[in-house]
Amino acid sequence: MASLPTNDICAASRLADHLSGRQASLTDLRRALHACPELGYKEVQTASTIAEQLRAIGVDEIHQGIAGTGIVGVLRGEEGDGPVVGLRAELDALAMEEANEFSWRSKRPGVMHACGHDGHMAALVGAMDYLAKHRQFSGKICAIFQPAEEGGAGAKAMIDEGLLERFALSSVYSIHNAPWVPFGEVVANAGPMMAAADRLEILVEGAGGHGGIPHKGTDAILAAAAVIQSVQSIVSRNIDPLDAAVISFGGISAGSMEQYNVLPGCVRIIGTVRTFRPEIQDLIEDLLHRTAANTASAFGAKASVKFTRRYPATVNAREKAQIVLGVAESLFGSQRTHTDLPPSTAGEDFAFMLQAVPGAYIWLGQGNGEQPESLHSPRYDFDDRLIVPAAALFVRLAEKELEARRA
Ligand SMILES: [Zn+2]
Ligand SMILES: [Zn+2]
Repeated sequence: MASLPTNDICAASRLADHLSGRQASLTDLRRALHACPELGYKEVQTASTIAEQLRAIGVDEIHQGIAGTGIVGVLRGEEGDGPVVGLRAELDALAMEEANEFSWRSKRPGVMHACGHDGHMAALVGAMDYLAKHRQFSGKICAIFQPAEEGGAGAKAMIDEGLLERFALSSVYSIHNAPWVPFGEVVANAGPMMAAADRLEILVEGAGGHGGIPHKGTDAILAAAAVIQSVQSIVSRNIDPLDAAVISFGGISAGSMEQYNVLPGCVRIIGTVRTFRPEIQDLIEDLLHRTAANTASAFGAKASVKFTRRYPATVNAREKAQIVLGVAESLFGSQRTHTDLPPSTAGEDFAFMLQAVPGAYIWLGQGNGEQPESLHSPRYDFDDRLIVPAAALFVRLAEKELEARRA
C-alpha cells in the first residue's frame, strides 16, 4: 500500500499537530454517523449531530432547516471582510443493506452509508474545528451540509431556498472519496469531473392490429425497434469522436406475454443520456426528437420523446482546479495530484452549485486493494485514514481563497 498522505501534511505544522490530535475523535464521529445512516431529506439525527459538533467548535452562526435538513455553519475571519468560501459535505445515505460486520455497521435495516458521506462530514467538522481556532483570514467560511445527494438533488433544493443569496458564496469546494483512484491521491480536473445524467422516455404509438394481418394495422413494436437502432446512431454519427456522450436504454415495455398474435399499439422505452458539455446535451435532445419522430413515421407510427434534465455535468472552474493543484501539491506532493484524469459518467448534484459559483469537485483516492472498488457496494466503508488528509485539504483551500483577496 502507498504510504499515507497523513504523514506528509507539512510535518510539524500546526495544522498537522491539530488534526493528528483530533484523529481519534473524528474517527469516533465518522463511525457514529456510519452506524446511524438516514435517507435523503430524512437526515434528522445526522443533522442534529452535525449541528451539535458545530456548536461545540464555536462557529459564529449555525443555520438549520435549509431544504429540510440542510445546515450551514459560518465562521468569520479576524481580518475583516473578504470573500466567502463554501465547503460542502453530504448528509445522506443509501437505501441498501450493509454487508459489513464491524462494530460500527449500520444499525438501520435497509439503509447504509455506502458512498462515504459519513467520512466527508467528519472531515469537514475537523476542518471547521481547526479554522475556528485559527482565524487569521479575511472573509467567511461556510460549511455546507446538504441533504439528499443520492438522487434527491439536495444541492439544488438548498440553492432554491436561497443558499447562494443568503451566504453570498464566492467559491465552493467539495471532496469525494474515490476507490478507483490510488490511496491518498487527489484529482481535480480543469473541466468535467462527472457527467450530466438525464432521463429519456420515448413513446411509440401506432394503430396496432392482428398479428396475422399486419398490413391492416400499424406495428408499433417494429417501429420501436427501428427507433432504438436509429437513436444509437446519434452519438456515433453526430458527436465529435473526441467528445464523449452515452445513450443507454434501460427498459422497454409493450404488449402482453399472453397475446402472441396481437400487434400492440404502444411501446414505451426508457433510458439515460450522459454528456459533459451543454452544447452536446442540447444537440442530443434535439436529435432525439427528430430521429424518433421521423423513424417512427417511416413505419406509419408516431414517436414522442420526453427528455428530463436531472443532474447537469459537474464541471470545475479552471482557475479553481489550479488552486486545488497548488494546495494538494504542497500537502501531499506533486506525484499525488492530478488535473487530467478521465471524468466519470456517473452524476453528482454538486453540479448545481458549480453552475452558480466557481469551484471544484475533488476526488480523494481510497484505492487500497482492501475495499471494494465501487462506491455503493454493500461492503463499502470510508477509510478513516483519509479523514485528516481531507480535512487538511479543506483547511488549506479555504485559507488560500481568503488570503488571495488579502494579498
Ligand atoms: Zn453515491
Ligand atoms: Zn457520494
